[in-house]
Amino acid sequence: MARVAFHTVGVLTLAAVSAAGACDQGETQHLSGSAHSATVGAGGSGGQGQGGEAVIVELGNPNHVLLRGWVLTPDESFAGEVLVENDLIACVAASCADQPAAADASVVETNGIILPGMIDTHNHILFNIFDESDWTPSQSYTNHLDWTDEARYAAMVDAKQHLNGEFSSPVNLNCELDKYGELKGLVAGTTSIVGAATPGNKGCYATLARSIDQSSNGLCDMQSCDDKVQAHTLFPSASTADGVCTNFGDGDTEAYLVHIGEGTDQEARDELESLRTVTTTDGCLFEPRTTIVHGTAFGAAELDVLANATMALSWSPRSNVFLYGAGTDKSKTTDIPGALDRGIRIALSPDWSIGGSQNLLDELRFADEIDGELWGDVLSPEMLVAMVTSTPAELLALEGQIGRLAPGLKADLVVIGGDPASPYASVVAATPREVRLVMVDGLVLYGDDQLQPLGPTDPGCEALDICARAKFVCVARPGGAADDKLAQTFAEIRTALEEALAAYDAMNLSQWDFAPLTPLVRCPQ
Ligand SMILES: [Zn+2]
Repeated sequence: MARVAFHTVGVLTLAAVSAAGACDQGETQHLSGSAHSATVGAGGSGGQGQGGEAVIVELGNPNHVLLRGWVLTPDESFAGEVLVENDLIACVAASCADQPAAADASVVETNGIILPGMIDTHNHILFNIFDESDWTPSQSYTNHLDWTDEARYAAMVDAKQHLNGEFSSPVNLNCELDKYGELKGLVAGTTSIVGAATPGNKGCYATLARSIDQSSNGLCDMQSCDDKVQAHTLFPSASTADGVCTNFGDGDTEAYLVHIGEGTDQEARDELESLRTVTTTDGCLFEPRTTIVHGTAFGAAELDVLANATMALSWSPRSNVFLYGAGTDKSKTTDIPGALDRGIRIALSPDWSIGGSQNLLDELRFADEIDGELWGDVLSPEMLVAMVTSTPAELLALEGQIGRLAPGLKADLVVIGGDPASPYASVVAATPREVRLVMVDGLVLYGDDQLQPLGPTDPGCEALDICARAKFVCVARPGGAADDKLAQTFAEIRTALEEALAAYDAMNLSQWDFAPLTPLVRCPQ
């Protein structure tokens, strides 16, 4: 991993590597200008819901939104309403009619399933302009150290570093890279991402999906503050690991996520014991605030260690199978049944978009596939939905703010078209086309085109096509410093990245090209 840049900015975030594996199914995603409003009740099939399309029943106070539909909290599900008042959820109930904010709210009959915005606990967001057309394993690996020195992989890392302004590169698109990665999550219902973007804590990370491991994650009363999520995408040095234990002690870190045990061999397995002894005080990282990212190589002994210390797992099955199972051997992933037997908390995460899953919906379907084919359905749809909502919120120590639908929590939510008779299974089966509405911090940022009047009007939203369904996305924001680039539209972000990739290729620094830009989504066949 010598080519990967390290950064330590307040909270430690290290850019690095990993991957994902699956089948490319083509995509459609066309930007078609911008508009401030759309026709209420436009047609299309934004989600194959049983009761038809989502419809705006009434346009009212833009800061009050009442959603009707099938509600997943996700602990329970029922036909009901979710009332949003400014940035918070004000009511979740069969009826919110008695709430003051309901009186002048915009009312939406979603005819769909309303659930908490999904939370991604592990991604390498700056790499999400790439896919497996840019790099794919030359063999099936047994350890995460096996592939990082491959020439083509190194060339891809060089391209990312060039665009991200690393090592004195004259190009600086870290805002665009991060926002493009956030949009890939957002259009699939993800509202918070541990993305390990570098450099850390830039103002431009403050919009779209929450950059939950950055100070601008929107969860502080102040405009910006220290977040308490610490993520390491490489094995930490002794001093770095000691720093985490110090942060545990003084409360600066409430959640620690670290790549450990990625691979299938003994060397990968031994990383857990190395993590125990890397600190001056042995085992000070072995406690409930630590989440092990991957643990692919772990056997019963290692899982016992996790269970005894109440540590958690972040699981990326598609990435594991792509790297360690030649893209096809689904047994080459973390022993989730073994983890479940021991009561280990598990979150699901895409890792990155190279090799398959572009987002958490893709990852949910893949996890369900493995579970059905190899494990005899030990994972219910309810458990899978918890792995992308309430459980990751707990692992990030943010369960008081995100991850559930409950009064007083942040209004981060998503509406998905599907069958209310099997709501959890509908979420697991959903693709980005079925995502009807996404709200972050009370702002409607994405959805089916007929819902665009709910979006911010200043400076407005853009139309785009996702898998032959007309959608809108609201990317540009007023305010911010000039270098925050908050005023950028999606069209401008995409063009900047496309042009930069083409210019990089034209420099002929390697034998490989990295344009075109990987699309926002892959569509079902
Ligand atoms: Zn990773």
